[in-house]
Amino acid sequence: MSIQTNLLKINSSIPNHVTLVAVSKTKPNYMIEECYQANQRHFGENKVQDLVDKYYALPKDIKWHFIGHLQTNKVKYIAPFVHLIHAVDSLKLLKEINKQALKNNRIINVLLQFHIAKEDSKFGLNKMSCDELLNSETFPTLKNISIIGVMGMATFTDNENQVKSEFKNLVDHFNILKSTTLITSESFSEISMGMSGDYKLAIEEGSTMVRVGSSIFGSR
Ligand SMILES: *Cc1c(COP(=O)(O)O)cnc(C)c1O
Repeated sequence: MSIQTNLLKINSSIPNHVTLVAVSKTKPNYMIEECYQANQRHFGENKVQDLVDKYYALPKDIKWHFIGHLQTNKVKYIAPFVHLIHAVDSLKLLKEINKQALKNNRIINVLLQFHIAKEDSKFGLNKMSCDELLNSETFPTLKNISIIGVMGMATFTDNENQVKSEFKNLVDHFNILKSTTLITSESFSEISMGMSGDYKLAIEEGSTMVRVGSSIFGSR
C-alpha cells in the first residue's frame, strides 16, 4: 500500500483530539514529502543529525518531534527549531534544554518520560525521581521550558493486558501530576503513548499523541 493510503487509514481510525506523529526515522526525504502532500505536519525522529538534516531539507512548517534519547551535548543543534522533545528524564537534560532555549529566545516544549515497561531500560523516570526533579530548587528557575505532558513506551509484547496496564500506569502518573505538582500548569495536557502495534489500545486508554512509524512508512 502507498504511504498516503496508510496515512489515510490511520487518520480515519484516530479521533480528532489525538495528534498523529509520523515517525520518519531512517526513511528518506521523498517519503516524508509524500506524507506532507497529504497534509501530515507532525514528524518524529530519534537521531539528532538526521533531524537536523531533514529540518534543513524539508518545508519549514513541519513540526519536528524529537522522540529518542537526547544527549545533553546535542541539545544545541535542535534547540532553534524543535517543536517537542518527548523523552526528558533528568534535571541535567532539562537544564540544558532551558539554556539552549534561552539562547534561541524561545520556550521549548517537553514531555517527561516515564519508565513503564517491564523491560530493563536505563531511560525514564519513576514517581520518586520525577518528584525529586520537580521539587528541586532549580526547576522553578527554568523559565524557557514548558512541560506539556508525559511520554512512555510499553513493553514490546503480544500480551495486550500487560501493555494495557502499562498505559494505565502512565495515565496514573499524568493524573497525579495534573492534580498536584503541576496543577497550575494549563499547558500540561499531553499523554504521548502508542506506536504502530499498540496505538489503538493507547487511545482507548487516554493517549493524546501517538507515534507511528512502520504502519505509515513500512518496516525499517
Ligand atoms: C521508532 C519509534 C516509534 C515508532 O515505532 P513503530 O513501531 O515503527 O510505529 C515510536 N516511538 C519511539 C520512541 C520510537 O523510537
